[in-house]
Amino acid sequence: MHWTPPAASDYSGCMLESSRPKPDPDLSFDRSPFRLPIGGQLVDGARHIDVINPATERPVASCPVGSVEQLEDAIRSAREAFPGWARSGLDARRTLIRACADAIESHIDALAVLLTAEQGKPLSQARLEIQRGCAVLRHFAGAELLIRTLRDSRHERIYERRGPLGVVAAIVPWNFPVLLLMNKLGPALLTGNCVIAKPAPTTPLTTLKIGEICTRILPAGVFSVICDANDLGPVLASHPDIAKIAFTGSTETGRKVYRSGADTLKRLTLELGGNDPALILDDADLDVVTPQIFRCAMANSGQVCMAIKRVYVPDALHDELCRRLGELAAAAVVGDGMDPRTQFGPVQNATQFRKLQTLLADCRELGTLTSGTVPPGGRGYFIAPTIVRDIPDDARIVREEQFGPILPILRYADVDDALARMNSTEFGLGASVWSSNVDRAIEIAEQVCCGTVWVNRHMVVDPSVPFRGARQSGLGAELGEAGIHEFTQAQVVNVSLQSA
Ligand code: NAD
Repeated sequence: MHWTPPAASDYSGCMLESSRPKPDPDLSFDRSPFRLPIGGQLVDGARHIDVINPATERPVASCPVGSVEQLEDAIRSAREAFPGWARSGLDARRTLIRACADAIESHIDALAVLLTAEQGKPLSQARLEIQRGCAVLRHFAGAELLIRTLRDSRHERIYERRGPLGVVAAIVPWNFPVLLLMNKLGPALLTGNCVIAKPAPTTPLTTLKIGEICTRILPAGVFSVICDANDLGPVLASHPDIAKIAFTGSTETGRKVYRSGADTLKRLTLELGGNDPALILDDADLDVVTPQIFRCAMANSGQVCMAIKRVYVPDALHDELCRRLGELAAAAVVGDGMDPRTQFGPVQNATQFRKLQTLLADCRELGTLTSGTVPPGGRGYFIAPTIVRDIPDDARIVREEQFGPILPILRYADVDDALARMNSTEFGLGASVWSSNVDRAIEIAEQVCCGTVWVNRHMVVDPSVPFRGARQSGLGAELGEAGIHEFTQAQVVNVSLQSA
């Protein structure tokens, strides 16, 4: 099945500003079939799987799935491309990375429609994800790879330089298929690595088209995309010719990747699950805080690793916060992401939908729920934003990562007790503290065990700021200078200036 994008006029409310780059006619792919970009060629898959639109439960398109042999081809061509790419020099790579960003953005209309069709998010948010992905590529295209002087005297010079690792596998989940790939692709390419991307089986299509676009710009083998039916990840993660795995996904799968890489002592970045708490202090202004809490919990229908996943609120503010959040949930517009009125799309896949239904049943039994409404008709993986109160700390919705639009509100009488409950988890991705007294909030924020703690904000990321998980939310960092270093091998050059 070929993918035919709907007419742009159907979505005129979402047309891009006129300043974006004009489409390159040579890269026109709107009606072409999906192919695997491997080693500079577009090849058919060994077999195909249907990619399902979560808003309609109907196929979007048929996706080529690679065989182990095709994966070996991708790795071989990446190995062959590596020496030349690594030697090509920073400036040459910067130019090509920027060219990729421009070319991807020139196709944003078609790509955003495709992303909404396969992922479910509203079209305006799909556009934003692609724009942010391009901004991340451009950020890394302009980044520096500094040489650190450790000692410099009349007798000796010692410095640390960084070189590429080799072939990097970028394994990506289904919530932000484009952005999470760009977070890896930008720094990996800048530092001279070759990349093999493996998207999630339920959201491979936009990645295939991005691979197709980049394949025409980058030297053959520098960037390949392999799609699978959730079976090639372990092959990549254990392959002796893969130097590094840049993985984003669940903690459970992250543990498997860790094990798979052990035999070859692979470099790993694991960006894993989270169960981010938000702590509201007794001096917080609910007029300011409530809409932000709602947005940071429900964005992308709750399918954000660093979404707010539990809220701790003092007794005095509890009922009012629940009432206000309940009103926002009831007013939320849930629907097909192609409809410009939609604020919240479906959850991305049937497995996640069933998991959330089970969690909702558990919440109904143990707590009190306020929910919005879903579109009538019974089709689509729709879950309305739901606020859960009067729920015990040991309920699944509090302990586990829900990864959906269901938010538990937990009351507290004492801040230290709230902190202890917040920290009582295996996760440690993000957290936030909300207060009208910033200094007090900072003091409390530093006591939360997590990789990023925000004060009076949440879910704010920037490509120049490292993002990482504590505890079982991850290993290593993505973004920032630390994120660039993750794609390099540091080498100390230790020179005696006495001639030998
Ligand atoms: P997942 O772990 O099921 O899958 C992620 C990717 O890993 C997919 O491409 C999948 O095909 C692949 N995979 C599956 N088994 C593998 C194996 N044994 N070896 C190698 N790869 C394998 O995750 P998901 O359900 O697609 O995504 C949701 C999860 O991702 C949530 O837990 C979320 O918190 C997490 N996430 C984390 C971050 C972060 O930066 N920390 C960002 C986004 C999402």
